[in-house]
Amino acid sequence: MSAIIIDGNAIAKVVRAKWKERVVRLREEGVQPGLAVLIVGSDPASQIYVRRKVKACEDLGIHSERHEFSATAAEEEVLDRILQLNVDPAIHGILVQLPLPAHFRSRRLLEAIAIEKDVDGFNLYNVGALVAGDTIFPPCTPYGVQCILEYSRIPISGQNVVVVGASNIVGKPMAMLLMRQEATVAICHLKTRDLAQFTILADILVVAAGKPNLITAPMVKTGAVVIDVGINRMPNGRLVGDVDFDAVARKASYITPVPGGVGPMTVTMLLVNTIKSAERIAKVDIARESA
Ligand code: NAD
Repeated sequence: MSAIIIDGNAIAKVVRAKWKERVVRLREEGVQPGLAVLIVGSDPASQIYVRRKVKACEDLGIHSERHEFSATAAEEEVLDRILQLNVDPAIHGILVQLPLPAHFRSRRLLEAIAIEKDVDGFNLYNVGALVAGDTIFPPCTPYGVQCILEYSRIPISGQNVVVVGASNIVGKPMAMLLMRQEATVAICHLKTRDLAQFTILADILVVAAGKPNLITAPMVKTGAVVIDVGINRMPNGRLVGDVDFDAVARKASYITPVPGGVGPMTVTMLLVNTIKSAERIAKVDIARESA
């Protein structure tokens, strides 16, 4: 068997084109969606991610603002900025780029973001809504994986899904989203004994551990769908995922490459969440004006 390689860039292009039309419609009504990204310190990977997000906004006609703070900034300074952005009518989405420097309490900052502008979906209210099955902002990376599966017409209901990685950003929300679509989901993590005994059962295997070559061909069921979320920079500078791509691609039915798989979809879903937020806020404003 030789897997179909899922082209995340191509799917992202289609999704972005569709949502660009909604930006045009909003702008015709006098509303320009706006995203504010807060970045603290000069972590090179974070700088690249933020640049990508800002550029993607520009391409879609979304207003974007980058709010930079030095690594030695006080937590209160960042908190104050979030509170200002919460009431700024030009801003519909607020994102704090993670990780934050060690002296910051990330939770405190994430909780300060207005629920209706929490486009990353990390505020506890939105986490709770995700668990209850009706979140307005699914976290962008798992939402991107869900979108990839939908565009590739891969059935989810009744499938065995194994998620490797149990972080708040990827693994846990991924499991919640797919469980909501009636998959049977197992979550594995660093302390899972004999990882292969779980992965071999997966019809859909989502890997987000941050360990190159964690998933080898013998760990994968023939015909499985393999989604590689991992991003690892090798000593030679090459980017790889968590899956032994060449060997697993000979066994799987579908596989995402790294780069060019899940990555472009993460940014795309951030744009989608921001546009949805602008639509929702615009509707509330119109209702208020006509009341
Ligand atoms: P994290 O470090 O917060 O969590 C990693 C998880 O993997 C943990 O639950 C840990 O227990 C588990 N894990 C680690 N080693 C393992 C092992 N040997 N066996 C089983 N489980 C193991 O990381 P994260 O923020 O969830 O990110 C995971 C990976 O996904 C990273 O490579 C990150 O760069 C990547 N990522 C990619 C995107 C994207 O857009 N493509 C977005 C976010 C994260």
